Amino acid sequence: MTSKQTGVAEAIAGAILTIDLAALRENYRILKNRLGGVACAGVVKADGYGLGVDAVANALANEGCDSFFVAQLSEALVLRNALKGHAAIHVLNGLAPGSEIHAAEAEITPVLNCLEQIADWARLAQRLGRRLPAVLQVDSGMSRMGLAPSEVDQLAAEPARLAALDIRLVMSHLACADEPGNDANDLQRASFDHLRTLLPNVKASLANSSGVFLGSEFHYDLARPGAALYGINPTPGTRNPMRPVVRLEAKVVQTREIGDGVGIGYGYASRARATMRLATISLGYADGWHRRAMGSAFFNGNRLPFAGRVSMDSIILDITSLAPGALKPGDLVELIGPNQTIDEVAAHAGTIGYEILTGLGPRFHRRYIGG
Ligand SMILES: *Cc1c(COP(=O)(O)O)cnc(C)c1O
Repeated sequence: MTSKQTGVAEAIAGAILTIDLAALRENYRILKNRLGGVACAGVVKADGYGLGVDAVANALANEGCDSFFVAQLSEALVLRNALKGHAAIHVLNGLAPGSEIHAAEAEITPVLNCLEQIADWARLAQRLGRRLPAVLQVDSGMSRMGLAPSEVDQLAAEPARLAALDIRLVMSHLACADEPGNDANDLQRASFDHLRTLLPNVKASLANSSGVFLGSEFHYDLARPGAALYGINPTPGTRNPMRPVVRLEAKVVQTREIGDGVGIGYGYASRARATMRLATISLGYADGWHRRAMGSAFFNGNRLPFAGRVSMDSIILDITSLAPGALKPGDLVELIGPNQTIDEVAAHAGTIGYEILTGLGPRFHRRYIGG
């Protein structure tokens, strides 16, 4: 297995983030399988959900993915440079007024979310004397982004507004895809189907990761998974069908023994109830580990509960259960990995795996394996 290394050098880093590109590619294949013959894009916004957009997008491209979605134009321009070839790169948030020319020059396809974005992109197309590619997003019931039904009616009445554009796709986004029993999913699908009849007859896209698992009626012509590619469970509450992609390990800084009653960490939020052995590790809330996430670390499969509060740059572990001397400075303990999934870490923090992944900090040594 080749291993590419970026970020802080391993010898001097406090923590190591290992990203398994072979598992990422397998997750893409798992989703493709689910989709039957339907095409599958890769959502790589927020630096590939924090894992490094260059490595992630190229791994997906090697798996045959030729359509990518990011949130912002700045991300699209980085991705255009990182990818060889002519993959379609879409900007979900559309283009801020005045930024259109930069998208056109880099052959970026905006997702147009309102009549103003359509007008601005069409005006540029006229000025350049060529039709520009675009995706239309409709709001099928999330109230976040996309053309409102009244705007879709206006477009239907005045199709000339789209004449300068090459509309490639009509899309929408599900608000409750991770709740298969929620009526909102079928209601949004019905609304999407209605709004599509008023627009150019082009390909359609509705499903994010969880949407892929709602059934083939949600698949349309193109799925847009992000989270599931990175190992987050797209079917919360049931077995995770995806392979884990991320492993996070932190180095032990020092170990100590303390006596009964001694305070541990800020505010003495915990105190020893007997003689205890502790290890302090090089990872804290500045690295994206939420201060309120009182989880555990693992060493050779042994659970090492946090003792006291999470600090900015360190966490104290209770290692009393280990044999004395079993854990030494420089040893690595696991924070995310086979013993503790991203989704479990998220549950400790009262959030979702998406926020954990995208919050992982810049001080790690990043090791890419399986590339
Ligand atoms: C982020 C996003 C996706 C990907 O969602 P996941 O839940 O990560 O699969 C798809 N479509 C849109 C519009 C998004 O904003």
